[in-house]
Amino acid sequence: MRTKPLAAPPHEAPWSAQDSADLYGVNDWGCDFFKVSDNGELEVQVDFKDHTVSVPLIQIIEGMQERGLEMPAILRIENLLDARISALNEAFARAIQSYQYGNVYRGVFPIKVNQQCHVVEEIADFGSRYHHGLEAGSKAELIIALSKLHDNESMIVCNGYKDAEFIELGLYAKEMGINCIFVLESLKELPIILERSEALGIEPLLGVRIRSSVTVDGHWNEDSGDRSIFGMSTHSLVRVVEELKQANMLHCLQLLHCHLGSQIPNIRNIRMGVMEACRFYSGLIEQGAPMGYLDLGGGLAVDYEGASSNHTHSMNYQLDEYCNNIVETIQECLDPENIPHPVIVTESGRATVAYSSMLLFNTLDVRTYEPAPLPESLADDASSTLQSLWQVNQDVGAENYQECYNDALFYRDEIQSLFRRGQASLSERAIAENIALSIFQKVAKEIRSSERVPEEMQHLPQMLADIYYGNFSVFQSLPDTWAIDQVFPVMPIHRLDEKPTRDAMLADLTCDCDGKIDVFATAEGTSSTLALHSLKEEEEYYLGVFLVGAYQETLGDLHNLFGDTHVVSVAIREDGRFDFVREIHGDSIADVLSYVEYDPRIMSEELRQRAEKAVRQGRITPARRKQMLKAFKASLDGYTYFERGTL
Ligand SMILES: *Cc1c(COP(=O)(O)O)cnc(C)c1O
Repeated sequence: MRTKPLAAPPHEAPWSAQDSADLYGVNDWGCDFFKVSDNGELEVQVDFKDHTVSVPLIQIIEGMQERGLEMPAILRIENLLDARISALNEAFARAIQSYQYGNVYRGVFPIKVNQQCHVVEEIADFGSRYHHGLEAGSKAELIIALSKLHDNESMIVCNGYKDAEFIELGLYAKEMGINCIFVLESLKELPIILERSEALGIEPLLGVRIRSSVTVDGHWNEDSGDRSIFGMSTHSLVRVVEELKQANMLHCLQLLHCHLGSQIPNIRNIRMGVMEACRFYSGLIEQGAPMGYLDLGGGLAVDYEGASSNHTHSMNYQLDEYCNNIVETIQECLDPENIPHPVIVTESGRATVAYSSMLLFNTLDVRTYEPAPLPESLADDASSTLQSLWQVNQDVGAENYQECYNDALFYRDEIQSLFRRGQASLSERAIAENIALSIFQKVAKEIRSSERVPEEMQHLPQMLADIYYGNFSVFQSLPDTWAIDQVFPVMPIHRLDEKPTRDAMLADLTCDCDGKIDVFATAEGTSSTLALHSLKEEEEYYLGVFLVGAYQETLGDLHNLFGDTHVVSVAIREDGRFDFVREIHGDSIADVLSYVEYDPRIMSEELRQRAEKAVRQGRITPARRKQMLKAFKASLDGYTYFERGTL
């Protein structure tokens, strides 16, 4: 971990919006979709044929408020999803053209990455111009794919373990002319497929998923390679071919599937995986299978850090390079054997949807670790320990900060132990802790501006960082930050023309020790604090967490019963205006209670009975009872997050 905090550098010239863009790395992770305007607002940028439109996020928040949608909210920008589908398909088209590859690309979107109806509909709709299909890993997802995909040239790839019902659905789809392929995950699936196929008189399209021996870098991929829990062993693959031959069905085997893992940061792993997949592909052709499709799975990464590195949360390649590598490697492997070029299929999920969603929230409060103003001098009768501490505070400087830090710790601990023994008073302890805090802050300041920091002191700036309390739940909206230490770009969406002067970490509403964000991406690695602006009285301070469109929305849990946030989908128009194309209200308190099997109606009745009893006992008036029950009802119907001024 990078140890220097992400703080605004010392700065001579006045702070500019451009300085903020650099500080938060917008141009590194934003894929040109985000931009800081000169007046300090973060804008979404959308390209149209002959011009670019920019819309400040703060304007969209205002629009939401006018419609009664309060923070926090997930904001989806449709245009960004469209742009990513285009980018992927067009990058493959360019690679295919420039290498004169003899076949086409067909992308499929894995529904599990974002199952939200509107997202899948948008992919199916916008993607139809590229025959972009869907990948389904369960019956429910296959039903989504069958109902939402209307283009018969698009593929539906069925992964996951399939029962007879799953297989029937897929066979009917194939009979209707839908390009629906079953990918065998294991040998055991084959008899069911053959049996159902014969019973219904419909031949399946089949694929096999192999287990690649390539081990892949990055978080997700600890179980890549031979330990992968997915895919068939080579031995099983050979058995599948034999059984298909016996059943006279080998002509159904058309696709080879190889998914190396998700978020593959290193292009070398991808190239190795493709090489190995090609060997399997040509092996199957040698066995007499017709083949025709090579499905390379997901794995195309997102550069959450904007570092262009092979770190877990980054990637050391660009989209064009990814496509070129795949196309070129397939040619290099198959041309010497005179094998016709297969249709290239990939199942990019993360890289397709991550950009289009962001979590927006306001901040509710800040806890700082600033000392209270110190008096001019200590009282004459102050203890000698207190006097020593006072002197340290006078002396801290660039040369002696380590010594001062050690001394401050020593004297502070001394007073605390005197306090425990009854030899120092409460107010002495308070004064000592405050002076120590003053020293620590001075030391932290020296640390921030010094090149080499002793290891034992590196955590100090983080220990003294402000805690900004955000109106959101990590567990609901950013589950991967908590579950797998995923890093997302985080930044304020306005006031970017002001210098951010505070070092901060973020805590959510749950006040759970895991309900926090304290790892932030920077181009030089990760940092434990983020530079933020001081809060102003009477003015909201809005932050955004970006690139959250993949894997976050349906993993969220009900920690502390914070429910789904509002979700707003916006389409930006060519004239720079934007429409709210969908608004989904987040869970009410009654909703989340019913998820955990409470019945809000019974709860209302129980409260009514208690209130009535209190009336009977003369504790409250009937008018108060009415008022109370009204408040209770309003709470049940209200948002689970912090609502400003609802009363
Ligand atoms: C999860 C998954 C994907 C999506 O991977 P991304 O890295 O999000 O592109 C694709 N294919 C299969 C089989 C998967 O399990």
